[in-house]
Amino acid sequence: MYDLIIAGSGPAGLAAGIYAKRAGLNAIVMERDGVSGGQVLSTYEVDNYPALPGISGMDLGSKMREHADRLGVEFVTENITGISDVDGFITVHGEGNEYFTNGVIIATGAHHAELGVKGEKEFQGMGVSYCATCDGAFFTGRDVAVVGGGDVAVEDAIFLARNCRKVYLIHRRDSLRAASSLQEALKKYDNVEYVWNSNVSEICGNDMVEYVNVVNKISGETRRIDLNGVFVAVGIIPNSESFKGIADMDEKGYLIAGEDCRCSTARIYAAGDVRTKQLRQIVTAVADGANAVTSFQADIIG
Ligand code: NAP
Repeated sequence: MYDLIIAGSGPAGLAAGIYAKRAGLNAIVMERDGVSGGQVLSTYEVDNYPALPGISGMDLGSKMREHADRLGVEFVTENITGISDVDGFITVHGEGNEYFTNGVIIATGAHHAELGVKGEKEFQGMGVSYCATCDGAFFTGRDVAVVGGGDVAVEDAIFLARNCRKVYLIHRRDSLRAASSLQEALKKYDNVEYVWNSNVSEICGNDMVEYVNVVNKISGETRRIDLNGVFVAVGIIPNSESFKGIADMDEKGYLIAGEDCRCSTARIYAAGDVRTKQLRQIVTAVADGANAVTSFQADIIG
């Protein structure tokens, strides 16, 4: 019987683990595949986490895990399939085991969305990627496209522009939603071509990606862009599938909770990217981890 189970070991889960340990709670952090850090690990450079300008995502994720390890936070590797709550008795169901607890912080983060166009699935791993820092090196000296207009798309375009011959940034509108600091950083690369008001309609090739067809929303014209790789960065989807029914979610699957991280069910909390919130960043995720533990303590003490 645990005081608290923390589902997920990204920044929110690791911060929650650190706060729970320091509060003297009998808590575990459960992670799906034994790797901590979450989406941070595939971020090339983090430049908005206070006191650590320019740190790599891999280093930041590792530092957070080291911090938790140094305090003696206990980690369990097991995929969570669901949570049940019978008259206030909470059970976390894993693939092989069941865990009984007084409270759960769901900090399972989010994963990339797909474009949903012809050729995307067929060419995954054959030129279609969702992680520039993971796969970008394969495209050194070659031509690639990034699809999307958010922080991730612009970060990916910056990363790829350093080593690729040409980067097409294909966006469905005529302005980016990425932070202006990122937009400014991207402007420094003259091998980037912006393809505005355009949607990729098809990803094509034989064994590998060879070109994309892009439709301009205003003119209706289709343009063929020859390239070797397509990096899809069109947003994120919360990893909340396993928690359906345990607490209220919005129409996109985010667990509904405010800054105190309390969900609609008692002693169930949502922290980080899986929660409804204004700003999904590392700094807000770690704040959630701390707030969720604080709410749990207040709820237990009554
Ligand atoms: P995002 O901010 O939601 O941006 C998604 C982009 O993809 C938008 O430009 C959107 O277009 C476009 N898009 C969505 N669906 C599309 C479709 N079907 N076809 C074509 N384009 C489509 O997502 P994100 O960039 O993945 O970032 C996710 C979250 O992580 C954000 O909150 C972001 O701020 C955060 N983040 C933070 C950091 C950091 O702290 N350093 C770094 C990376 C990401 P519209 O603009 O037209 O909607």
